[in-house]
Amino acid sequence: MLKARKCIREMREYHSPLGNDPIDLRLDMNENTTGCSPRVLAKLSSLDSKTLALYATREPGEKLVAESLSVDPSQLLLTNGADEGIDLLCRAYLDADDEIIVIVPAFAMYEVFAQTAGAKVVRVPTDPEFKFPCARVLQAISPRTRAVVITNPNNPTGVAVSRADILQVLEAAPEAAVLLDEAYFDFYGQTMLDQVEKIPNLFVARTFSKAYGLAGLRLGVLAGAAEQISVLRRMCPPFNVNVVALECLAEALADRQSVADYVRQVKTTRGWLKQQLESMGLKCWPSETNFLLCEFGPRKGALLGALRARGISLRDHPDCDTCVRISIGKQEEMERVLAALKRALAELPAAKQVAR
Ligand code: PMP
Repeated sequence: MLKARKCIREMREYHSPLGNDPIDLRLDMNENTTGCSPRVLAKLSSLDSKTLALYATREPGEKLVAESLSVDPSQLLLTNGADEGIDLLCRAYLDADDEIIVIVPAFAMYEVFAQTAGAKVVRVPTDPEFKFPCARVLQAISPRTRAVVITNPNNPTGVAVSRADILQVLEAAPEAAVLLDEAYFDFYGQTMLDQVEKIPNLFVARTFSKAYGLAGLRLGVLAGAAEQISVLRRMCPPFNVNVVALECLAEALADRQSVADYVRQVKTTRGWLKQQLESMGLKCWPSETNFLLCEFGPRKGALLGALRARGISLRDHPDCDTCVRISIGKQEEMERVLAALKRALAELPAAKQVAR
């Protein structure tokens, strides 16, 4: 019988939260509900048949992105979403039975790619209040540690990690590829990208899927020391980023205003939503992202179901106890969520008893 590798046979299939329910307000994948820049759309509609018929090279796009991020093009790889960068990093640095440290709750794909590489995932839980567990991460570093993932700010919690903590981990694990996933950088504003030249084991991932509103286009960035990025280039398919994404890249980068407007809108709406949820007795964590983590208590399943029945999908994360992650949409979308939540709470007996 044909058999996949042992580590693959032991994996479970990852399912995105997209189900078959008729959902018309999707707030479970931290997508930008305002859409991308109109300049990207205009570029898209100008593409002709010949462009689509050709393979496109990454290099001109890499130059543009490198310029916008103030790094050298040799320190950066454009990827098919940040996902591909994480996959490349796992396959490049993890041999079978090597260890990768993942701080949980975490973005699910780290484990998927690490397990695909045959590595052992060492899960380190966050401190209370979902704070970065620096001391326990340092303790978990072993001679087998070949990778560590730090998500800053973290998904699904929205909580940020201090630069001092990140530097401690980088220093304590010089033999490990430390991936700093900055997928939500645009909402936070602090980065370690400027350090890739100086710190040889640091990698920084970015994505156009969130603030740029281009999740469907699949465009990500992996930055690191030039010697390490050149290692990753050996494994990376030459046409990993599709021609449409490459054609639209310059417009996406040029329209800084549309990103700034969206980020401003998210911050305002996030503050308002947090206040509203807290006034209903629902605890929320401080977020530096385009989502909020909220404590729904023992009624989580019932509330999520009630919202789904009203066409609204929120994220139920397996490692977040009774918390729910809500992507920040437009003001009117958040008003709809609140109204649906209030109605659902009123309909569920004793639903207001929120416990953690
Ligand atoms: N990292 C984090 C922390 C994310 O939340 C996501 C997307 N949800 C990704 C990476 C993957 O992004 P992309 O769409 O660029 O593959």
